[in-house]
Amino acid sequence: MGQFDLIMLGPPGAGKGTQAANVVSDYGVPHISTGDMLRDAVKNQTPMGMEAKRYMEAGDLVPDSVVIGIVKDRLQQPDTAKGFLLDGFPRTIPQAEALDAALGGIGRSVGKVVAILVDEEALVARLTGRRICRTCQAPFHVSFNPPKTVDVCDRCGGELYQRADDSEATVRNRLEVYRAQTEPLIEYYDKQGVVARVDGDQSPDKVYAEIKAAIGPAA
Ligand code: ADP
Ligand code: ADP
Ligand code: ZN
Repeated sequence: MGQFDLIMLGPPGAGKGTQAANVVSDYGVPHISTGDMLRDAVKNQTPMGMEAKRYMEAGDLVPDSVVIGIVKDRLQQPDTAKGFLLDGFPRTIPQAEALDAALGGIGRSVGKVVAILVDEEALVARLTGRRICRTCQAPFHVSFNPPKTVDVCDRCGGELYQRADDSEATVRNRLEVYRAQTEPLIEYYDKQGVVARVDGDQSPDKVYAEIKAAIGPAA
């Protein structure tokens, strides 16, 4: 059983990336964000990036076969030996089944699924005001979590930008895709008894306190 084999689940804008930064620094596990990996592939114009681009721009999911492949490869890296934090994966039942099979093959299983819950109107405001660091991908918000200097990353000094898929029209589609394809994963993992539901509609510090209590003390 992988106590620190962790998944961050929740709708777009729930605060997965924000909270992942806290978890990886306290628990020393690598942050595996499929969104970050895919955006990197798009930027570098790799064959996978060229295929993924149109889905991402529309706010649709990239095909399971593509995403499952990149996560399986990433989980082979030695830094995942003591655990990992998946952010943005799995997003469909077939992805969750593929992850269970891959972990089962090495005698591990999902330790905890942190489900961050936030209601829909709050999500639209969070996503349309989000800014991301071009260098380290840290998320900020123009009103809810502004950087100290406009458009400059507090963490690394990188330039902040607005993701093309954080426009209101695309956001609505992403929320629908979440409800149809990803939300059922909460029930899937409930059957394994590993879900911790966290109220994401509080200050980031309070959200993190709940997450820490759910994961337990660091090793
Ligand atoms: P996700 O990774 O789930 O899509 P992010 O962590 O990128 O979400 O957060 C989405 C936006 O909401 C960002 O602009 C972030 O600064 C902001 N945000 C994150 N947590 C909170 C919170 N608890 N309250 C208000 N805004 C938040
Ligand atoms: P957010 O948490 O704000 O929704 P992400 O950065 O996790 O955004 O994902 C951005 C986009 O990348 C998604 O809308 C989707 O097109 C693609 N993507 C990321 N992770 C996956 C995944 N596990 N399966 C399919 N598509 C994915
Ligand atoms: Zn940065």
